[in-house]
Amino acid sequence: MIDSSLNSCIQCGTCVSSCCSKSTLNLRRILASFVGKKASIWEFEQIWYCTTCHLCQDRCPRGIALTDTIVRAREKLIESGNVPPDVRDMLISIQKHRNPFGISKFKRDEWVKGLDVPTVKSNPDFDYLWFVGCAHSFDTRNKQIAAKTAQLFNEMGLNYAILGREEGCCGNDVKMVGEEGLFELLKQENMDIFNKYGAKKIVVLSPHCYHIFKNEYGLDVRLAIEVIYDAIINGELRFKAGIEKKITFHDPCYLGRYNNIYELPRELIRAIPLVDFVEMQRVKERSFCCGGGGGNIVRDYLDAKRPNVIRVQEAKRTNAEILAVACPFCMTMLEDGVKTSGVEMEVKDIIELIWEAVFQD
Ligand code: SF4
Ligand code: SF4
Repeated sequence: MIDSSLNSCIQCGTCVSSCCSKSTLNLRRILASFVGKKASIWEFEQIWYCTTCHLCQDRCPRGIALTDTIVRAREKLIESGNVPPDVRDMLISIQKHRNPFGISKFKRDEWVKGLDVPTVKSNPDFDYLWFVGCAHSFDTRNKQIAAKTAQLFNEMGLNYAILGREEGCCGNDVKMVGEEGLFELLKQENMDIFNKYGAKKIVVLSPHCYHIFKNEYGLDVRLAIEVIYDAIINGELRFKAGIEKKITFHDPCYLGRYNNIYELPRELIRAIPLVDFVEMQRVKERSFCCGGGGGNIVRDYLDAKRPNVIRVQEAKRTNAEILAVACPFCMTMLEDGVKTSGVEMEVKDIIELIWEAVFQD
């Protein structure tokens, strides 16, 4: 039963006070509604605003699988056709174009124009298949990070290749909104294409791709920041300049809570000469979500207290000049949070910081 584990709840309120989307408010009542009666509009909305950040589940003193239960509830809603229009449009776009942005799949490789980026056809003997991901292939801001990653990979002599237009969607958010059927289709397609080109090792930028490839596909996958970190340690990448700025870091949920990677991004930032690294109040296991996971990258928060604005204000309290991120959804959400709140702060991906220190004098 969808709601059975909730019976051990002691009403301590930890989940509600942790939640960036307030999806745990009256969760027992919301989930009970799937058993006996039709959910009200309000109850229905609460389920979809969950970002699957996993904070409530990790903090619940009764060990109740809250995030998993919400995903199961979404599966039920999807089965019965009760899907909010923006989530439905995202799923249709992924079905049609293999990306959530409604852009033709034939534009997936446009970001490489003017760059030296090998493909599985031009470099069939690659060591790493670089799965670029939807956000880094289509989103204007995140495409800049893909370009800088390619330059860093070339500089350190990595033997890699991309799939170009043959790349699909990893399916992480499809699974987290509860569309299991589409997820299984995407997974099969991706496995077929990896096998077709003999990909043994995959490298990715997004923690969402990382999580799903590692934990649901069972693949040998590494993060671009891991590969770059090794290159710095081995002397294959050298810093030419420092960044004399105060920098703080926002933990992506799918890197931190889902995969226990907390130190690597911090070590990379600290490795850049002259950086003054400062921590926010809520970090690592207790980090507060940007609001973009679980399908919410295509949605808008109706509440005035938007999670991205809350997080940006929290970052500003450290007096940092730069808010570093390591996820394309965090980039989109937190840059939006900066614009919306009027906070003066730059949002930069760790890859951009490394690129500046490697290529700029
Ligand atoms: S954190 Fe767990 S025990 Fe506490 S209110 Fe939430 S579900 Fe109940
Ligand atoms: S997973 Fe995160 S967003 Fe979803 S209900 Fe739990 S705390 Fe809220």
